[in-house]
Amino acid sequence: MDYQTLEATKDVFVALLYLVSAIFFIVGIKNLAKPKTASRGNRIGATGMFLAIVTAFIDFGLVVDVQNEVITSQFQYWYILVIAVSLGALVGVWAALGVKMTGMPQMVAIFNGLGGGASLLVAGVYYGFELARQATLDVPMLVATVLSGLIGAVTLSGSFIAYGKLQGLKIVPDKPVTFTGDLAFKLILLVGLLGLGAYMVMTPDTTFWYWLIVMGGLVLGIFLVVGIGGADMPVVISLLNSYSGIAAAATGFVLGNIVLIIAGSLVGASGIILTNIMCKAMNRSLLNVLFGGFGGGTTHTTTDEIYEGKVTSTSADEVAMILESAQRVVIVPGYGMAVARAATPVRILTEALEKAGIEVVFGIHPVAGRMPGHMNVLLAEENIPYEKLLDLDTVNPTFAQTDVAIVLGANDVVNPLAREKDSAIAGMPILDVDKARTCVVIKRSLSPGFAGIPNPLFANDNTLMLFGDGKQVIEDLVKAYKEL
Ligand code: NDP
Repeated sequence: MDYQTLEATKDVFVALLYLVSAIFFIVGIKNLAKPKTASRGNRIGATGMFLAIVTAFIDFGLVVDVQNEVITSQFQYWYILVIAVSLGALVGVWAALGVKMTGMPQMVAIFNGLGGGASLLVAGVYYGFELARQATLDVPMLVATVLSGLIGAVTLSGSFIAYGKLQGLKIVPDKPVTFTGDLAFKLILLVGLLGLGAYMVMTPDTTFWYWLIVMGGLVLGIFLVVGIGGADMPVVISLLNSYSGIAAAATGFVLGNIVLIIAGSLVGASGIILTNIMCKAMNRSLLNVLFGGFGGGTTHTTTDEIYEGKVTSTSADEVAMILESAQRVVIVPGYGMAVARAATPVRILTEALEKAGIEVVFGIHPVAGRMPGHMNVLLAEENIPYEKLLDLDTVNPTFAQTDVAIVLGANDVVNPLAREKDSAIAGMPILDVDKARTCVVIKRSLSPGFAGIPNPLFANDNTLMLFGDGKQVIEDLVKAYKEL
């Protein structure tokens, strides 16, 4: 076979392998859409990624020897492949095994940041090589390089600030950090960086401008995220996830790598869809999340006015007796169930109630917890059937026929203030637990939820507060119920 045919055969082989990895990504994402198939989706996606990495090394590691007309293998590439994959896999497995479910948004933030960082480094280094070998650089490639540097840098620094806010690091204040004229500063910085990018595209003779754009992007990322409150970080992380995908796709254009363009576009699109789902579930616009924030509204009711003398606390024994005469129970889990790691006792309670012929279902709010699907994952890990996890629209009409609604570590998602026009969470769809005959709220105190506002549900006539740590309380409840 002459060397040209060999070259063409190799290119077709590489392109086919990339195509197979892209199919893996698409099928993986499709599977991620349902809790039942989500772990399979993860495995399929990871396999696609492994194949894409190996293919990239095949592309560089197998070289056509023009003189002898054979394909030779460049040993140093396989060496890099083994080290890179082993080290990367080790860190990934260690991070994934160590992270708690409640720490998942922080982990996603770090992964996004690293994705943005990798994109900007690869694009920058490639740009440098192309300049060094005095290649003719076309405008689309240069535009993609600028975008990769800018978006990658914003994603990198923004994600680390988001991580700091969620993790409660002291150097990153949870509250929005704003100053007079900060919006104008951010706009001027953005326009300046785009101008610099245009200059780089027109005069591509040094990498200096590229790295200056990256520096500016890092500053922009910090100021964009530091001005948003900790309560909105999950939405910001999802948005940065989308940015990391766009940066990767831009790097794909720089390198002419199809699979990077496809994977980046998939991440970019799914990140923006998730951001939209979260905003809708909170009845807020993306602009409000980025520049407004929780805590608006004009309702100035104080905690004392709402709770004083109106809160009824109860005991596990009393709730067990109420449950004994119930026919239908709806459990509404929230962030507190995740913190307390109470999913296992919840499953045991569910089984005990069902054994006595009581119908038990779960009311799942789309933003209960700190990420969409947070509660579904925790309950799925306990093998609670998916049919029992009812979404907002399905469960809400049934509360009027529900004997007991058990709210476990949820707060904002059951806050009736959302029905009032002027409250900070006005318009956010909530679970109508107050319409059940009895509502039992399990939490440690009367302290507010993520949005930082009081909850009149706790003072309702049909609400009983069962104070304590979620896991302990449910275990006590199971014990009391079984002893009846
Ligand atoms: P909240 O943050 O409103 O409330 C959680 C409650 O759990 C707290 O009031 C806390 O009360 C209680 N809690 C904490 N630890 C424990 C424990 N160990 N045992 C028992 N209770 C505990 O959570 P929700 O799930 O109701 O609402 C989610 C919030 O997150 C919403 O504001 C939503 O908009 C926001 N959000 C969610 C996103 C998502 O995608 N899921 C995205 C963006 C924002 P106490 O301290 O008294 O125990």
